[in-house]
Amino acid sequence: MEMKNEDLLDAYIFCPKCHTLHQKCLLHDGQKARCSFCKATLYRVDSKLADHGLALSVTGVIFFLLANMFPLVSVEILGIEQFITLPSTFLTLFENGFYVVGLMCALLIFVFPLMIFMANIVLFLLLKLKRNEKIIASLLILLAHLKPWSMGDIFLISILIALVKLIGFAEIHIGASFLTLLCFVLIDLYLNKMIRLSEVWTLKQEIFGIKRGLDGHK
Ligand SMILES: [Zn+2]
Repeated sequence: MEMKNEDLLDAYIFCPKCHTLHQKCLLHDGQKARCSFCKATLYRVDSKLADHGLALSVTGVIFFLLANMFPLVSVEILGIEQFITLPSTFLTLFENGFYVVGLMCALLIFVFPLMIFMANIVLFLLLKLKRNEKIIASLLILLAHLKPWSMGDIFLISILIALVKLIGFAEIHIGASFLTLLCFVLIDLYLNKMIRLSEVWTLKQEIFGIKRGLDGHK
């Protein structure tokens, strides 16, 4: 069903836990709106949202690039030492003919995480510059599609499991990139938890002066 004025939908929000529909109200900086049924946080108002988002995204990209430049771990078995880097994990799959698995691995642990952080940088930069509303809206829609497919955290856990299984069989040395990958995953998790796309969308509406739904229901 197509609505005549889809911006009216911005005046309402679904509870992420119990899916109850709520009407938004204006909050002051630092305040949170909670669901009246399950008390889950619906949305927050943070005047520094774009600054925090931009700082975290730039830091995340730096850690991600560092995580790709140096070995994650080195494994020594019977005197033979092998360095494992993040790109080598999916490149090895390609070299051995596992093209589909290699492609999936490359998308999930390299392409999508990098795309998400680069999209975040452009998004928060445009919000700070207060320009190109259409590009901001497109980036938010793109991020909503991409975020479920970023699996850097699962990759990190799988490395830890593999290392635990190798203890006793091989000598394992943690590389510098392992710590930068850990920092990247922590920033990714923090960014996902603290900055919701719905809050960024609301910020966009406020910045560009489009509060039709809210103003019409005051
Ligand atoms: Zn609820």
